[in-house]
Amino acid sequence: MRAVKAALLAEYGRPFQVDDVTPVTPSPDDVVVRMAASAYCYTDCLNQRGMRGLPRTLPTIVGHAAVGVVEHAGPEVTRVRAGDHVLVPGTPECGRCFWCRKGRPDQCEDLLAPARAVAHRADGTPVVTGIGTYAELITIRGSWAFPLHSSLPDETLSLLGCGVTTGLGAALNVGQVQPGDSVAVVGCGHLGLWMIQGARLAGAERIIAVEPLAWRLDLARALGATDAVSPAHGDPVEAVRALTGGRGADVTLEASGPPEGIEQAFAMTRRAGTAVITGVSSQASTVTLPQTEVAIRGKRILSCQMGQTVVGRDVPRYVEMLEDGRLDAAPIITGVFPLERINDANEAAAARNALTGVIVP
Ligand SMILES: [Zn+2]
Ligand SMILES: [Zn+2]
Repeated sequence: MRAVKAALLAEYGRPFQVDDVTPVTPSPDDVVVRMAASAYCYTDCLNQRGMRGLPRTLPTIVGHAAVGVVEHAGPEVTRVRAGDHVLVPGTPECGRCFWCRKGRPDQCEDLLAPARAVAHRADGTPVVTGIGTYAELITIRGSWAFPLHSSLPDETLSLLGCGVTTGLGAALNVGQVQPGDSVAVVGCGHLGLWMIQGARLAGAERIIAVEPLAWRLDLARALGATDAVSPAHGDPVEAVRALTGGRGADVTLEASGPPEGIEQAFAMTRRAGTAVITGVSSQASTVTLPQTEVAIRGKRILSCQMGQTVVGRDVPRYVEMLEDGRLDAAPIITGVFPLERINDANEAAAARNALTGVIVP
């Protein structure tokens, strides 16, 4: 195959290198997708610094939320074909594994399938990845590609690969926010602002945004938060309790990252309430929770890989809501970067002065 440009992570903690690579010959169950737009997720800042432990072979390509057009679909691929406009999201659905058959494609076997060589550098070095979208052309297993039907800009649609689906799924699928609920959202960045929109759509009466950065709190209010709490001005757990009759929130949605954020989310959830956790900081991080509280307070702590999204069920609904304005992506896309400027997108995300940057090859 012809050489294409890709953003290579060749050394942890060092800038991405945009270089020519030659894709491998696709397998019968592979799909080759020409990338149109790829949302830069905060997770990739952690990947770039080597904090997530995967993959271990460099150079690699990262990125996991994209849209593009299928150039080639192998003979074993059934869901998409050449010419299709497709979503490449953070989690695949093979439809055949234990988890997919259990109705839990968020845990699909292909998600943790061993990374493999998808291309080679000019000197023959293999480029190894599981899913990596920061390239002009990507080769992925068919389980990662889903047909997409919308004329919205690709920059907007790319957010369906992670931010929209994880954030809305946290509120709707995992937390199952009910009309009239009080919801606390811990961390109002790339993900938390979608959680706020999800809680609003679910009919939450009180949506408490917890976030240290003032401009993010302002945006949280504009997108549906009814109250704003800054940890810079006192204990956020006490503040959330004070706003919820001393009980704590019915549902807490965490999107802050560090273990302290998760510990706070648990503490600000009321007795018999639900805490939904999405934050990751490093592979070695551990969370400490008060044992008695965990044992007797009736709280549910739920993990949230891609919002337990079932793409065929959830994404068409989200597309409709983006199209009719019930969901607002515009303020969350804080930059559009050509592939050559991927390091600028990474720096903006790492410095937390951006929300979602979109990479367009
Ligand atoms: Zn992501
Ligand atoms: Zn599966």
